[in-house]
Amino acid sequence: MNIVIVGGGTAGWMAASALSRALNRHTTIRLVESDEIGIVGVGEATVPHIKAFNQMLGLNEAQFVSRTQGSFKLGIEFRDWGRLGDSYVHGFGTMGHDVGLASFHQYWIKGRLRGQASDLLDYSVNTVAAMRGKFMPAPVDVPASNPLGSIAYAYHFDAALYARFLREYAEQRGVKRIEGKVREVVTNPENGYVTAVRLENGESVSGDLFIDCTGFRGLLIEGTCEAGYEDWKQWLPCDRALAVPCAKVAPPTPYTRSTARGAGWQWRIPLQHRTGNGYVYSSDFISDDEAASVLLANLDGAKLADPKPLRFTTGIRRKAWVRNVVALGLASGFMEPLESTSIHMIQSGISRLLQLLPESGHVDPLLIDRYNAQVRFEAERIRDFLVLHYNATSRNDTPFWDHCRTMAVPDTLKEYTDLFRHSGRFFRNADEMFGLVSWVQVMVGQGIMPTGYDPLVDQMSDEDLPRFLASIRDVVSKNVDLMPTHEQFIARECPAPQVAA
Ligand code: FAD
Repeated sequence: MNIVIVGGGTAGWMAASALSRALNRHTTIRLVESDEIGIVGVGEATVPHIKAFNQMLGLNEAQFVSRTQGSFKLGIEFRDWGRLGDSYVHGFGTMGHDVGLASFHQYWIKGRLRGQASDLLDYSVNTVAAMRGKFMPAPVDVPASNPLGSIAYAYHFDAALYARFLREYAEQRGVKRIEGKVREVVTNPENGYVTAVRLENGESVSGDLFIDCTGFRGLLIEGTCEAGYEDWKQWLPCDRALAVPCAKVAPPTPYTRSTARGAGWQWRIPLQHRTGNGYVYSSDFISDDEAASVLLANLDGAKLADPKPLRFTTGIRRKAWVRNVVALGLASGFMEPLESTSIHMIQSGISRLLQLLPESGHVDPLLIDRYNAQVRFEAERIRDFLVLHYNATSRNDTPFWDHCRTMAVPDTLKEYTDLFRHSGRFFRNADEMFGLVSWVQVMVGQGIMPTGYDPLVDQMSDEDLPRFLASIRDVVSKNVDLMPTHEQFIARECPAPQVAA
Protein backbone atom coordinates (compact mmCIF):
# COMPACT_ATOMS: atom_id res chain seq x y z
CA MET A 1 0.00 0.00 0.00
CA ASN A 2 1.21 3.43 -0.96
CA ILE A 3 -0.11 6.19 1.28
CA VAL A 4 0.25 9.88 0.46
CA ILE A 5 -0.42 12.46 3.16
CA VAL A 6 -0.95 15.93 1.74
CA GLY A 7 -0.22 18.60 4.35
CA GLY A 8 2.26 18.80 7.19
CA GLY A 9 0.52 20.64 10.01
CA THR A 10 -0.46 18.95 13.25
CA ALA A 11 -2.85 16.66 11.36
CA GLY A 12 -0.34 15.61 8.70
CA TRP A 13 2.47 14.84 11.10
CA MET A 14 0.22 13.12 13.65
CA ALA A 15 -1.06 10.87 10.85
CA ALA A 16 2.45 10.24 9.54
CA SER A 17 3.74 9.37 13.03
CA ALA A 18 0.89 7.04 13.89
CA LEU A 19 0.81 5.26 10.54
CA SER A 20 4.59 4.80 10.51
CA ARG A 21 4.36 3.29 13.97
CA ALA A 22 1.37 1.05 13.30
CA LEU A 23 1.85 -0.18 9.74
CA ASN A 24 4.31 -2.71 8.43
CA ARG A 25 7.27 -2.08 6.21
CA HIS A 26 5.32 -3.01 3.06
CA THR A 27 3.51 0.31 3.34
CA THR A 28 5.17 3.41 1.94
CA ILE A 29 4.20 6.70 3.50
CA ARG A 30 5.03 10.00 1.86
CA LEU A 31 4.04 13.43 3.09
CA VAL A 32 3.84 16.47 0.85
CA GLU A 33 3.91 19.91 2.41
CA SER A 34 4.67 23.42 1.36
CA ASP A 35 6.83 25.66 3.53
CA GLU A 36 5.59 28.59 1.49
CA ILE A 37 1.97 27.94 2.54
CA GLY A 38 2.91 27.05 6.12
CA ILE A 39 0.67 25.73 8.87
CA VAL A 40 -2.18 27.34 10.77
CA GLY A 41 0.17 27.44 13.78
CA VAL A 42 -2.44 27.53 16.53
CA GLY A 43 -3.80 24.59 18.51
CA GLU A 44 -1.93 24.54 21.75
CA ALA A 45 -4.31 23.10 24.30
CA THR A 46 -5.32 19.45 24.41
CA VAL A 47 -7.47 16.93 26.26
CA PRO A 48 -6.21 13.90 28.23
CA HIS A 49 -6.78 11.45 25.35
CA ILE A 50 -3.56 12.74 23.78
CA LYS A 51 -1.62 10.79 26.37
CA ALA A 52 -2.84 7.56 24.79
CA PHE A 53 -1.67 8.83 21.40
CA ASN A 54 1.78 9.66 22.73
CA GLN A 55 1.96 6.31 24.49
CA MET A 56 1.04 4.54 21.28
CA LEU A 57 3.96 6.29 19.62
CA GLY A 58 6.18 5.36 22.56
CA LEU A 59 7.14 8.99 23.28
CA ASN A 60 8.96 9.90 26.44
CA GLU A 61 6.69 12.35 28.26
CA ALA A 62 9.40 14.50 29.84
CA GLN A 63 11.20 14.84 26.52
CA PHE A 64 7.97 15.64 24.70
CA VAL A 65 6.97 18.37 27.19
CA SER A 66 10.45 19.85 27.24
CA ARG A 67 10.87 19.86 23.45
CA THR A 68 7.50 21.56 22.90
CA GLN A 69 7.92 24.18 25.69
CA GLY A 70 4.92 22.42 27.17
CA SER A 71 3.03 22.68 30.43
CA PHE A 72 0.32 20.57 32.06
CA LYS A 73 -3.41 21.09 31.89
CA LEU A 74 -5.82 19.89 34.57
CA GLY A 75 -8.84 21.55 33.00
CA ILE A 76 -10.25 24.85 31.80
CA GLU A 77 -11.31 27.81 33.89
CA PHE A 78 -14.34 29.60 32.44
CA ARG A 79 -14.77 33.20 33.48
CA ASP A 80 -17.82 35.38 32.87
CA TRP A 81 -19.69 32.71 30.92
CA GLY A 82 -22.89 32.03 32.86
CA ARG A 83 -22.93 35.55 34.30
CA LEU A 84 -20.47 38.43 34.45
CA GLY A 85 -18.25 37.84 37.47
CA ASP A 86 -18.86 34.06 37.53
CA SER A 87 -16.07 31.54 37.32
CA TYR A 88 -16.09 27.77 37.20
CA VAL A 89 -13.69 25.01 36.21
CA HIS A 90 -14.22 22.14 33.84
CA GLY A 91 -11.66 19.77 35.29
CA PHE A 92 -10.59 16.46 33.85
CA GLY A 93 -10.83 13.31 35.94
CA THR A 94 -13.38 12.44 38.58
CA MET A 95 -15.49 14.25 41.15
CA GLY A 96 -16.01 13.09 44.75
CA HIS A 97 -16.86 9.44 44.85
CA ASP A 98 -19.98 7.55 43.98
CA VAL A 99 -21.92 5.76 46.71
CA GLY A 100 -24.11 2.79 45.90
CA LEU A 101 -25.81 3.22 42.55
CA ALA A 102 -25.90 7.02 42.65
CA SER A 103 -23.20 9.23 41.21
CA PHE A 104 -21.43 11.67 43.50
CA HIS A 105 -22.97 14.69 41.82
CA GLN A 106 -26.43 13.53 42.90
CA TYR A 107 -25.37 13.73 46.56
CA TRP A 108 -23.89 17.14 45.83
CA ILE A 109 -27.18 18.35 44.28
CA LYS A 110 -29.18 17.26 47.31
CA GLY A 111 -26.64 18.92 49.61
CA ARG A 112 -26.61 22.06 47.52
CA LEU A 113 -30.40 22.32 47.45
CA ARG A 114 -30.30 22.16 51.26
CA GLY A 115 -27.44 24.63 51.64
CA GLN A 116 -25.05 21.90 52.84
CA ALA A 117 -22.60 21.82 49.93
CA SER A 118 -20.07 24.34 48.65
CA ASP A 119 -19.05 24.92 45.02
CA LEU A 120 -18.79 21.83 42.87
CA LEU A 121 -15.12 22.50 42.18
CA ASP A 122 -14.26 21.85 45.86
CA TYR A 123 -14.88 18.13 45.40
CA SER A 124 -12.44 17.26 42.62
CA VAL A 125 -8.70 17.00 43.01
CA ASN A 126 -8.23 18.26 39.45
CA THR A 127 -10.16 21.48 39.97
CA VAL A 128 -8.80 22.24 43.44
CA ALA A 129 -5.22 21.60 42.31
CA ALA A 130 -5.73 23.73 39.21
CA MET A 131 -6.93 26.73 41.21
CA ARG A 132 -4.06 26.34 43.66
CA GLY A 133 -1.42 26.08 40.91
CA LYS A 134 -0.49 22.53 41.91
CA PHE A 135 0.35 19.64 39.64
CA MET A 136 1.59 16.08 39.60
CA PRO A 137 0.52 12.96 37.71
CA ALA A 138 -1.27 10.18 39.59
CA PRO A 139 1.40 8.18 41.47
CA VAL A 140 1.60 4.64 40.12
CA ASP A 141 1.18 2.99 43.51
CA VAL A 142 -1.96 4.91 44.52
CA PRO A 143 -5.38 3.40 43.70
CA ALA A 144 -7.89 5.43 41.66
CA SER A 145 -10.17 5.53 44.74
CA ASN A 146 -7.65 7.91 46.36
CA PRO A 147 -8.00 11.49 45.06
CA LEU A 148 -4.35 11.56 43.96
CA GLY A 149 -4.93 8.37 42.01
CA SER A 150 -7.63 10.04 39.94
CA ILE A 151 -5.62 13.01 38.64
CA ALA A 152 -6.16 13.33 34.90
CA TYR A 153 -4.32 15.78 32.71
CA ALA A 154 -3.48 16.94 29.21
CA TYR A 155 -0.86 19.36 27.86
CA HIS A 156 -0.37 22.83 26.52
CA PHE A 157 2.37 23.06 23.89
CA ASP A 158 3.79 25.15 21.10
CA ALA A 159 2.03 23.93 17.95
CA ALA A 160 4.99 24.57 15.65
CA LEU A 161 7.37 22.70 17.96
CA TYR A 162 4.91 19.82 18.23
CA ALA A 163 4.74 19.46 14.43
CA ARG A 164 8.55 19.56 14.29
CA PHE A 165 8.84 16.96 17.03
CA LEU A 166 6.46 14.61 15.25
CA ARG A 167 8.15 15.20 11.91
CA GLU A 168 11.46 14.01 13.37
CA TYR A 169 9.70 10.97 14.80
CA ALA A 170 8.01 10.06 11.53
CA GLU A 171 11.07 10.62 9.36
CA GLN A 172 13.10 8.35 11.63
CA ARG A 173 10.51 5.67 10.91
CA GLY A 174 10.75 5.93 7.17
CA VAL A 175 8.19 8.59 6.23
CA LYS A 176 9.47 10.51 3.24
CA ARG A 177 8.78 14.24 3.26
CA ILE A 178 8.37 15.97 -0.08
CA GLU A 179 8.60 19.73 -0.14
CA GLY A 180 6.36 21.35 -2.73
CA LYS A 181 3.06 22.93 -3.54
CA VAL A 182 0.35 20.75 -5.03
CA ARG A 183 -0.79 22.30 -8.30
CA GLU A 184 -3.10 19.60 -9.56
CA VAL A 185 -4.90 16.54 -8.24
CA VAL A 186 -5.00 13.75 -10.83
CA THR A 187 -7.96 11.34 -10.87
CA ASN A 188 -8.89 8.17 -12.66
CA PRO A 189 -11.66 9.24 -15.09
CA GLU A 190 -13.41 5.88 -14.71
CA ASN A 191 -14.00 5.84 -10.97
CA GLY A 192 -12.95 9.26 -9.72
CA TYR A 193 -10.23 7.81 -7.48
CA VAL A 194 -7.27 10.11 -6.92
CA THR A 195 -4.19 8.61 -8.52
CA ALA A 196 -1.58 11.31 -7.89
CA VAL A 197 -0.90 14.87 -6.83
CA ARG A 198 1.23 16.92 -9.19
CA LEU A 199 3.50 19.57 -7.71
CA GLU A 200 4.44 22.96 -9.08
CA ASN A 201 7.91 21.66 -9.98
CA GLY A 202 6.27 19.00 -12.19
CA GLU A 203 6.92 16.10 -9.82
CA SER A 204 4.07 13.63 -9.55
CA VAL A 205 3.39 11.77 -6.29
CA SER A 206 1.16 8.76 -6.86
CA GLY A 207 -0.57 6.63 -4.27
CA ASP A 208 -3.36 4.18 -3.37
CA LEU A 209 -4.76 6.10 -0.41
CA PHE A 210 -4.61 9.89 0.06
CA ILE A 211 -4.94 11.59 3.43
CA ASP A 212 -6.00 15.19 3.01
CA CYS A 213 -4.41 17.29 5.77
CA THR A 214 -4.34 20.53 3.79
CA GLY A 215 -6.15 22.56 6.43
CA PHE A 216 -9.24 24.69 5.86
CA ARG A 217 -8.78 24.57 2.06
CA GLY A 218 -9.47 20.79 1.90
CA LEU A 219 -7.64 20.54 -1.38
CA LEU A 220 -8.54 16.94 -2.15
CA ILE A 221 -11.66 16.29 -0.07
CA GLU A 222 -13.44 19.41 -1.28
CA GLY A 223 -11.44 20.65 -4.27
CA THR A 224 -11.49 17.27 -5.98
CA CYS A 225 -14.02 15.04 -4.21
CA GLU A 226 -16.59 17.80 -3.55
CA ALA A 227 -17.58 16.27 -0.22
CA GLY A 228 -19.70 19.30 0.76
CA TYR A 229 -19.68 21.22 4.03
CA GLU A 230 -22.32 21.47 6.71
CA ASP A 231 -22.25 24.91 8.33
CA TRP A 232 -23.12 25.04 12.05
CA LYS A 233 -22.96 28.78 12.44
CA GLN A 234 -26.57 28.98 13.60
CA TRP A 235 -25.43 27.25 16.81
CA LEU A 236 -21.79 28.28 17.06
CA PRO A 237 -21.73 31.89 15.89
CA CYS A 238 -18.00 32.65 16.15
CA ASP A 239 -16.26 32.71 12.77
CA ARG A 240 -12.98 34.52 13.37
CA ALA A 241 -10.05 34.52 15.72
CA LEU A 242 -7.02 36.64 16.44
CA ALA A 243 -4.07 34.83 18.02
CA VAL A 244 -1.19 36.58 19.75
CA PRO A 245 1.62 35.37 22.01
CA CYS A 246 2.64 37.47 24.99
CA ALA A 247 5.48 37.45 27.49
CA LYS A 248 5.18 35.15 30.44
CA VAL A 249 4.88 37.18 33.62
CA ALA A 250 4.04 34.51 36.18
CA PRO A 251 4.47 30.76 36.65
CA PRO A 252 2.37 28.86 34.11
CA THR A 253 -1.05 27.89 35.45
CA PRO A 254 -1.90 24.19 35.17
CA TYR A 255 -5.09 25.04 33.28
CA THR A 256 -6.31 26.92 30.23
CA ARG A 257 -8.35 30.05 30.87
CA SER A 258 -11.34 30.97 28.74
CA THR A 259 -12.84 34.39 29.45
CA ALA A 260 -16.10 35.35 27.81
CA ARG A 261 -15.95 38.74 26.07
CA GLY A 262 -18.59 40.95 24.50
CA ALA A 263 -18.70 39.09 21.17
CA GLY A 264 -16.98 35.78 21.88
CA TRP A 265 -14.26 34.63 24.25
CA GLN A 266 -10.54 34.89 24.87
CA TRP A 267 -8.15 32.01 25.51
CA ARG A 268 -5.01 32.05 27.62
CA ILE A 269 -2.65 29.11 27.25
CA PRO A 270 0.49 29.15 29.43
CA LEU A 271 3.65 27.61 27.99
CA GLN A 272 7.14 27.52 29.49
CA HIS A 273 8.56 30.28 27.29
CA ARG A 274 5.48 32.40 26.56
CA THR A 275 1.72 32.60 26.90
CA GLY A 276 -0.61 31.98 23.96
CA ASN A 277 -3.71 34.16 23.68
CA GLY A 278 -6.54 34.57 21.25
CA TYR A 279 -9.95 36.15 20.83
CA VAL A 280 -12.52 33.92 19.13
CA TYR A 281 -15.39 36.15 18.00
CA SER A 282 -18.35 36.58 15.73
CA SER A 283 -17.84 39.02 12.86
CA ASP A 284 -21.59 39.74 12.99
CA PHE A 285 -21.13 41.43 16.35
CA ILE A 286 -17.68 43.03 16.42
CA SER A 287 -15.20 44.41 13.88
CA ASP A 288 -11.70 42.98 13.52
CA ASP A 289 -10.16 46.21 14.82
CA GLU A 290 -12.34 46.27 17.91
CA ALA A 291 -11.59 42.60 18.56
CA ALA A 292 -7.86 43.31 18.31
CA SER A 293 -8.18 46.16 20.82
CA VAL A 294 -10.06 43.96 23.28
CA LEU A 295 -7.50 41.19 22.94
CA LEU A 296 -4.46 43.43 23.30
CA ALA A 297 -5.98 45.21 26.29
CA ASN A 298 -6.35 41.90 28.09
CA LEU A 299 -2.91 40.29 27.89
CA ASP A 300 -0.93 39.32 30.98
CA GLY A 301 2.36 40.51 29.47
CA ALA A 302 3.79 42.44 26.54
CA LYS A 303 2.71 41.16 23.12
CA LEU A 304 5.42 39.29 21.26
CA ALA A 305 3.97 39.61 17.74
CA ASP A 306 1.09 41.21 15.94
CA PRO A 307 -2.24 39.39 16.24
CA LYS A 308 -2.63 36.72 13.58
CA PRO A 309 -6.09 36.71 11.96
CA LEU A 310 -7.88 33.43 11.26
CA ARG A 311 -11.23 32.90 9.58
CA PHE A 312 -13.28 29.76 9.80
CA THR A 313 -16.71 28.27 9.34
CA THR A 314 -17.71 25.97 12.16
CA GLY A 315 -19.10 22.71 10.87
CA ILE A 316 -18.14 19.43 9.26
CA ARG A 317 -17.38 18.05 5.86
CA ARG A 318 -20.50 16.10 4.84
CA LYS A 319 -18.19 13.18 4.18
CA ALA A 320 -14.71 13.01 5.66
CA TRP A 321 -13.88 9.95 3.56
CA VAL A 322 -14.74 9.89 -0.16
CA ARG A 323 -13.42 7.10 -2.45
CA ASN A 324 -9.69 6.88 -1.62
CA VAL A 325 -9.41 10.27 0.09
CA VAL A 326 -9.70 10.65 3.89
CA ALA A 327 -9.65 14.13 5.39
CA LEU A 328 -8.13 14.77 8.80
CA GLY A 329 -7.76 17.93 10.85
CA LEU A 330 -9.08 21.23 9.57
CA ALA A 331 -9.69 19.67 6.14
CA SER A 332 -12.42 17.53 7.72
CA GLY A 333 -14.20 20.37 9.51
CA PHE A 334 -13.69 22.69 12.41
CA MET A 335 -15.17 23.13 15.80
CA GLU A 336 -13.92 26.21 17.55
CA PRO A 337 -11.28 25.66 20.24
CA LEU A 338 -13.49 26.24 23.30
CA GLU A 339 -12.88 22.73 24.67
CA SER A 340 -9.64 21.99 22.79
CA THR A 341 -11.24 19.22 20.78
CA SER A 342 -9.62 19.57 17.32
CA ILE A 343 -6.39 17.72 18.01
CA HIS A 344 -8.40 15.03 19.74
CA MET A 345 -10.56 14.68 16.62
CA ILE A 346 -7.42 14.23 14.52
CA GLN A 347 -6.35 11.51 16.91
CA SER A 348 -9.70 9.72 16.83
CA GLY A 349 -9.80 10.05 13.03
CA ILE A 350 -6.42 8.34 12.82
CA SER A 351 -7.41 5.49 15.12
CA ARG A 352 -10.66 4.99 13.21
CA LEU A 353 -8.72 4.97 9.95
CA LEU A 354 -6.33 2.37 11.33
CA GLN A 355 -9.30 0.20 12.34
CA LEU A 356 -10.91 0.52 8.91
CA LEU A 357 -7.84 0.66 6.72
CA PRO A 358 -8.51 -0.93 3.32
CA GLU A 359 -6.30 -3.80 2.19
CA SER A 360 -5.61 -2.26 -1.18
CA GLY A 361 -6.26 0.81 -3.27
CA HIS A 362 -9.86 -0.29 -3.79
CA VAL A 363 -12.00 0.88 -0.90
CA ASP A 364 -15.14 -0.98 0.11
CA PRO A 365 -18.01 1.51 0.62
CA LEU A 366 -18.86 -0.33 3.85
CA LEU A 367 -15.65 0.95 5.41
CA ILE A 368 -16.29 4.46 4.18
CA ASP A 369 -19.87 4.56 5.49
CA ARG A 370 -18.84 3.31 8.92
CA TYR A 371 -16.05 5.86 9.10
CA ASN A 372 -18.25 8.76 8.07
CA ALA A 373 -21.05 7.77 10.45
CA GLN A 374 -18.63 7.72 13.36
CA VAL A 375 -17.08 11.06 12.45
CA ARG A 376 -20.52 12.62 12.35
CA PHE A 377 -21.59 11.11 15.66
CA GLU A 378 -18.45 12.35 17.39
CA ALA A 379 -18.69 15.82 15.87
CA GLU A 380 -22.38 16.31 16.67
CA ARG A 381 -21.94 15.34 20.30
CA ILE A 382 -18.98 17.72 20.67
CA ARG A 383 -20.98 20.43 18.90
CA ASP A 384 -23.77 20.10 21.45
CA PHE A 385 -21.32 20.33 24.33
CA LEU A 386 -19.87 23.54 22.88
CA VAL A 387 -23.29 25.04 22.18
CA LEU A 388 -24.17 24.43 25.84
CA HIS A 389 -21.51 26.97 26.89
CA TYR A 390 -23.00 29.70 24.73
CA ASN A 391 -26.67 29.05 25.23
CA ALA A 392 -26.87 28.28 28.97
CA THR A 393 -26.15 31.79 30.12
CA SER A 394 -28.07 34.58 31.73
CA ARG A 395 -25.87 37.22 30.09
CA ASN A 396 -27.82 39.87 28.25
CA ASP A 397 -25.26 42.68 28.36
CA THR A 398 -24.36 42.57 24.64
CA PRO A 399 -26.28 41.73 21.45
CA PHE A 400 -23.96 38.72 20.99
CA TRP A 401 -24.96 37.18 24.34
CA ASP A 402 -28.61 38.02 23.75
CA HIS A 403 -28.35 36.12 20.50
CA CYS A 404 -26.65 33.12 22.13
CA ARG A 405 -29.04 32.97 25.08
CA THR A 406 -32.14 33.05 22.90
CA MET A 407 -31.03 31.00 19.89
CA ALA A 408 -32.61 27.62 19.11
CA VAL A 409 -30.33 24.73 20.06
CA PRO A 410 -30.09 21.22 18.60
CA ASP A 411 -32.84 18.90 19.95
CA THR A 412 -30.18 16.49 21.17
CA LEU A 413 -28.76 19.18 23.46
CA LYS A 414 -32.16 20.23 24.71
CA GLU A 415 -32.89 16.65 25.77
CA TYR A 416 -29.70 16.57 27.84
CA THR A 417 -30.28 19.88 29.56
CA ASP A 418 -34.00 19.27 30.20
CA LEU A 419 -33.26 15.95 31.86
CA PHE A 420 -30.47 17.44 33.96
CA ARG A 421 -32.52 20.44 35.01
CA HIS A 422 -35.32 18.15 36.13
CA SER A 423 -33.35 15.77 38.38
CA GLY A 424 -29.64 16.04 37.66
CA ARG A 425 -29.66 12.94 35.52
CA PHE A 426 -27.25 12.46 32.67
CA PHE A 427 -26.67 9.52 30.36
CA ARG A 428 -23.64 9.34 28.15
CA ASN A 429 -24.58 8.42 24.62
CA ALA A 430 -22.43 5.49 23.42
CA ASP A 431 -18.78 6.54 23.41
CA GLU A 432 -19.30 10.26 22.93
CA MET A 433 -16.21 12.23 23.84
CA PHE A 434 -17.32 14.09 26.96
CA GLY A 435 -18.71 12.10 29.86
CA LEU A 436 -20.76 12.75 32.95
CA VAL A 437 -18.21 14.74 34.94
CA SER A 438 -17.62 17.15 32.06
CA TRP A 439 -21.28 17.69 31.29
CA VAL A 440 -22.22 18.12 34.95
CA GLN A 441 -19.45 20.63 35.63
CA VAL A 442 -20.32 22.71 32.59
CA MET A 443 -24.10 22.57 33.05
CA VAL A 444 -23.81 23.61 36.71
CA GLY A 445 -21.08 26.13 35.90
CA GLN A 446 -23.26 27.74 33.24
CA GLY A 447 -26.08 28.10 35.75
CA ILE A 448 -28.26 25.04 35.13
CA MET A 449 -29.05 23.94 38.67
CA PRO A 450 -31.30 20.90 38.90
CA THR A 451 -34.52 21.37 40.82
CA GLY A 452 -34.56 17.76 41.97
CA TYR A 453 -32.25 14.81 42.48
CA ASP A 454 -32.17 11.07 42.07
CA PRO A 455 -34.09 9.49 45.01
CA LEU A 456 -31.39 6.82 45.22
CA VAL A 457 -29.32 9.26 47.27
CA ASP A 458 -31.94 9.11 50.03
CA GLN A 459 -30.30 5.86 51.08
CA MET A 460 -27.85 8.13 52.92
CA SER A 461 -29.37 9.62 56.07
CA ASP A 462 -29.92 13.37 56.36
CA GLU A 463 -27.31 13.50 59.13
CA ASP A 464 -24.70 11.62 57.12
CA LEU A 465 -25.03 13.66 53.93
CA PRO A 466 -23.34 16.90 55.14
CA ARG A 467 -20.64 14.85 56.88
CA PHE A 468 -20.02 12.86 53.70
CA LEU A 469 -19.72 16.00 51.57
CA ALA A 470 -17.47 17.75 54.09
CA SER A 471 -15.18 14.73 54.37
CA ILE A 472 -14.70 14.57 50.61
CA ARG A 473 -13.87 18.25 50.46
CA ASP A 474 -11.43 17.82 53.30
CA VAL A 475 -9.68 14.77 51.84
CA VAL A 476 -9.36 16.47 48.44
CA SER A 477 -7.89 19.59 49.98
CA LYS A 478 -5.40 17.67 52.14
CA ASN A 479 -4.25 15.65 49.14
CA VAL A 480 -3.73 18.79 47.09
CA ASP A 481 -1.58 20.13 49.97
CA LEU A 482 0.81 17.25 49.26
CA MET A 483 1.27 18.13 45.61
CA PRO A 484 4.14 20.25 44.28
CA THR A 485 3.37 23.44 42.44
CA HIS A 486 3.10 23.18 38.68
CA GLU A 487 6.23 25.28 38.36
CA GLN A 488 8.19 23.05 40.75
CA PHE A 489 7.07 19.94 38.92
CA ILE A 490 8.13 21.28 35.52
CA ALA A 491 11.48 22.51 36.84
CA ARG A 492 12.17 19.08 38.30
CA GLU A 493 10.87 16.81 35.54
CA CYS A 494 10.76 18.50 32.16
CA PRO A 495 12.27 22.00 31.95
CA ALA A 496 12.44 23.32 28.38
CA PRO A 497 15.52 25.00 26.94
CA GLN A 498 15.60 28.72 27.68
CA VAL A 499 14.81 30.57 24.47
CA ALA A 500 13.77 34.03 23.48
CA ALA A 501 10.01 33.53 22.90
P1 FAD B 1 -2.74 23.29 8.88
O1 FAD B 1 -1.95 23.56 10.10
O2 FAD B 1 -3.36 24.44 8.19
O3 FAD B 1 -1.78 22.54 7.87
C1 FAD B 1 -2.08 22.44 6.51
C2 FAD B 1 -0.90 21.86 5.77
O4 FAD B 1 -1.27 21.65 4.43
C3 FAD B 1 0.35 22.74 5.78
O5 FAD B 1 1.48 21.94 5.96
C4 FAD B 1 0.36 23.30 4.37
O6 FAD B 1 1.66 23.57 3.92
C5 FAD B 1 -0.24 22.14 3.59
N1 FAD B 1 -0.83 22.53 2.31
C6 FAD B 1 -1.96 23.23 2.09
N2 FAD B 1 -2.16 23.41 0.77
C7 FAD B 1 -1.14 22.79 0.15
C8 FAD B 1 -0.76 22.64 -1.21
N3 FAD B 1 -1.47 23.17 -2.22
N4 FAD B 1 0.37 21.97 -1.48
C9 FAD B 1 1.14 21.44 -0.47
N5 FAD B 1 0.83 21.56 0.82
C10 FAD B 1 -0.29 22.23 1.13
N6 FAD B 1 -7.00 22.59 18.36
C11 FAD B 1 -6.82 22.06 19.59
O7 FAD B 1 -6.87 20.85 19.74
N7 FAD B 1 -6.58 22.88 20.64
C12 FAD B 1 -6.58 24.23 20.54
O8 FAD B 1 -6.33 24.93 21.52
C13 FAD B 1 -6.85 24.80 19.27
N8 FAD B 1 -6.90 26.14 19.10
C14 FAD B 1 -7.22 26.65 17.87
C15 FAD B 1 -7.44 28.01 17.72
C16 FAD B 1 -7.83 28.52 16.48
C17 FAD B 1 -8.11 29.98 16.35
C18 FAD B 1 -7.94 27.67 15.37
C19 FAD B 1 -8.31 28.20 14.03
C20 FAD B 1 -7.71 26.32 15.52
C21 FAD B 1 -7.38 25.79 16.76
N9 FAD B 1 -7.22 24.42 16.94
C22 FAD B 1 -7.03 23.91 18.19
C23 FAD B 1 -7.25 23.52 15.80
C24 FAD B 1 -5.83 23.15 15.42
O9 FAD B 1 -5.08 24.32 15.16
C25 FAD B 1 -5.82 22.28 14.19
O10 FAD B 1 -6.68 21.19 14.39
C26 FAD B 1 -4.45 21.74 13.94
O11 FAD B 1 -3.50 22.76 13.90
C27 FAD B 1 -4.41 20.96 12.65
O12 FAD B 1 -4.31 21.78 11.54
P2 FAD B 1 -4.11 21.05 10.15
O13 FAD B 1 -2.86 20.23 10.22
O14 FAD B 1 -5.36 20.36 9.80
O15 FAD B 1 -3.93 22.27 9.13
